[in-house]
Amino acid sequence: MSTARLTINLQALASNWRALDAKTDVETGAVVKADAYGLGAGPVASTLAEEGVRKFFVAVAEEGAAVREAVGAGPMICVFSGHMEGDTDLLRTHDLTPLINSPQQFQRHQQAMPDHAFGIQLDSGMNRLGLEPADWAELRSKAEALNPVVVMSHLACSDEPDHPMNRQQLQTFREMTEGVTAPRSLAATGGTFLGPEFHFEFCRPGIGIYGGMPFADAKPVVTVDLPVVQIRALEVGETVGYGNSWTARRPSRIATVTAGYADGLHRAIGGGIDTFAGDHPCPVVGRISMDLITVDVTDLPHDPDRLRILNGHQTVDDLAEAAGTIGYEILTSMGSRYSRGYVE
Ligand SMILES: *Cc1c(COP(=O)(O)O)cnc(C)c1O
Repeated sequence: MSTARLTINLQALASNWRALDAKTDVETGAVVKADAYGLGAGPVASTLAEEGVRKFFVAVAEEGAAVREAVGAGPMICVFSGHMEGDTDLLRTHDLTPLINSPQQFQRHQQAMPDHAFGIQLDSGMNRLGLEPADWAELRSKAEALNPVVVMSHLACSDEPDHPMNRQQLQTFREMTEGVTAPRSLAATGGTFLGPEFHFEFCRPGIGIYGGMPFADAKPVVTVDLPVVQIRALEVGETVGYGNSWTARRPSRIATVTAGYADGLHRAIGGGIDTFAGDHPCPVVGRISMDLITVDVTDLPHDPDRLRILNGHQTVDDLAEAAGTIGYEILTSMGSRYSRGYVE
């Protein structure tokens, strides 16, 4: 095996979804946009459908097709970007539910497919997607007469529980949806932890299902194993990698493993990261190159064949922190070069 291996534990994924579901008294959907945060929309969505998920969410209509194929007829698949120009055939063919974001989208949807289910997305302050309060006020009676399947909005700061924006958006969402009979939804992973007021009729977590923060107790879903290409001995004072960024302070053994930028292991990850031989940490030394990573294995009793960079000891959020980013970006950049496997 010469390419790095990425293993996705579908049992851990299902367990994370159940744990999030158990945090609330309401229904729990699942966000599977961006190919299920890089982990594979097909296997992820069918696992979650077996767990009982009845509402799935994707970013754009094209992503909905793979989810529909995985879950079959029945579950609702909502599209955050709504009904965009050119989407009508996809929405119809795969029975996708657009979340209407603007008066233009509402008009487009009514003209193109007047009998096709839709939801409403409201802007409660994030200023990214959704109908503005004034547009909603104007549309509301017309839209409500057509029985939208959901009325939802999204929180900008839910990963910071004490941020005043959370209560401000809650207040705005309540005002905008007062008397609405359609099911309402405001909470993603972060909102699930903000308490029952934020839960409305259903929650729609994403990142927590995949083992990422802000779900602190999530089980790790992804493991990544990097094959060792060669191991060499270094004298004190010899350097490793581009820019001579690491110097041996003792006689050292350095393992070179295959993986790099195309695998989501970015140059920015820098120092403070380990790889693991079993439970034994071995620090990454020198710069991460485009396709190679160098590791100090001096303290290992024997030469490893492979080293694990993502596991229960070191999570996507640890890698993200080292790279100055967030777990979402690490997961979704894990690329297509891996040999991928699923543990059921
Ligand atoms: C991505 C997204 C979610 C899921 O968010 P997580 O933080 O991954 O749980 C929910 N709702 C909307 C509108 C989103 O864009």
